[in-house]
Amino acid sequence: MEQSLFVYNTLTRKKEKFEPLNPPHVGMYVCGPTVYSDVHMGNCRTYISFDLIFRYLLHLDYKVRYVRNITDAGHLEGDAGDEGEDKISKKAKIARLEPMEIVQKYTVGFHEIMQTFNLLPPSIEPAATGHIIEQIELVQHIIDKGYGYIVDGSVYFDVEKYNQTRDYGVLNGRNLEDMLNNTRALGGQHEKRGKLDFALWIKAKPEHLMKWPSPWGVGFPGWHLECSAMSNKYLGAHFDIHGGGMDLVPTHHTNEIAQNMAACDKNPATYWIHTNMLTVNGQKMSKSLGNSFLPHELFSGNHSILNKGYSPMTARFFMLQAHYRSTLDFSNEAMEASEKGFKRLMNSFALLDGLKTSATTGVQIQPLLDKCYEAMNDDFNSPVLIAELFEASHIINTVHDGKLKIDQPNLALLKSLMTSFITEVLGLKNEMPADDDLPKVLNLIVSLRNEAKTNQDYATSDKIRNGLQKIGFQLNDSKEGTTWSKK
Ligand code: AMP
Ligand code: ZN
Repeated sequence: MEQSLFVYNTLTRKKEKFEPLNPPHVGMYVCGPTVYSDVHMGNCRTYISFDLIFRYLLHLDYKVRYVRNITDAGHLEGDAGDEGEDKISKKAKIARLEPMEIVQKYTVGFHEIMQTFNLLPPSIEPAATGHIIEQIELVQHIIDKGYGYIVDGSVYFDVEKYNQTRDYGVLNGRNLEDMLNNTRALGGQHEKRGKLDFALWIKAKPEHLMKWPSPWGVGFPGWHLECSAMSNKYLGAHFDIHGGGMDLVPTHHTNEIAQNMAACDKNPATYWIHTNMLTVNGQKMSKSLGNSFLPHELFSGNHSILNKGYSPMTARFFMLQAHYRSTLDFSNEAMEASEKGFKRLMNSFALLDGLKTSATTGVQIQPLLDKCYEAMNDDFNSPVLIAELFEASHIINTVHDGKLKIDQPNLALLKSLMTSFITEVLGLKNEMPADDDLPKVLNLIVSLRNEAKTNQDYATSDKIRNGLQKIGFQLNDSKEGTTWSKK
């Protein structure tokens, strides 16, 4: 492949040629979910966007170590993750369960949803509670370097001191004064030296459930710390890609960079990739705003915002029809358009194997293939890629209708294009009919058998009965008609 991949880097605010530190290896870290509740469709959009990026890098033959963490401790309720109660402990108290039961329940649920949307699992999925020792070491390191201070069993990061020699606002391009003027005072403020300081280690109150001993007393790690400690452990102090949703830029990722720079003098990643938000009526989908809905509500249509249910692959296709850096507004109309588009694409994909070749060809596939790569190499532009795939689908349909000729080499290239981009890169697949479609299909078969019987075509009617029996369905004939049951 002649073309190079270009990636938009939040850090430099421009598209840059992708040059991994140690090719063909690529290290990628993406902030994972806080497992205190079900992931909503907005969260799913971010993980689907990174699945596209992961899949395309694999398609380009990079050997990717993809680390996506599970936050199972230390994420407090406030916007900055730094004030109020620990989200998991709070849920555990309300439900009268062990915090680890909450963690297990929502981690299992998260995995199921990721599989339903056909996401590839990451290479490593480390949990914060499994890396307490590493986090304590990192805090110690930051204290030793002079950027952490201890107050009554808690440890804070000194942002203003750090900013004297470094640029705290490097990721979102803002200066400290501006950030100070636009930040309200957060929890633990009376202990913090500066308004922007954040907790590295938090002293646990006696009633706090998940806590560990440390050199500073019994406590738990701050939310930002886990990602620095775990990315460092599995990908090194400096690796290729760090990602997450755009809402993580001003605080979580800004603080991660500060922690790493303070401890190791390195910005953890070369490329910072941020995905844009799924919105509802122009507003970010968020649990706290009350405008979120869950994947199973989308599938069943059981939510006030939904006119009907949509399949997982329709939702995946809908997400991929927008560029990952654009906002995507949810609407029933847009979903219905995606449903039709997805079916159209998959129907023509299914025709490929039956296409007949000719000695001559009226179409050249190579330019189309080049355009597919051009789209993806331009910062993973999936909507442009999908437009090219519709072009391919048009070619397939025209050949199928006998209005266009294609020769063997071009058909082989077309097959490889469709398979690579639809299946491997976009991660789309055919869906089995939903369980509630099965009765409709069986009723249709029974009516066809009745028709055969009426026509005295007993060979066909017996063939249907025996065929169904072999796959586990029993037909019961009676005066009232024929019913079916599962054996
Ligand atoms: P959280 O569990 O809140 O930390 O969120 C997990 C991931 O989902 C983070 O990367 C967020 O940036 C992302 N996220 C949250 N809300 C949305 C949304 N409405 N659209 C896209 N991504 C989101
Ligand atoms: Zn993180």
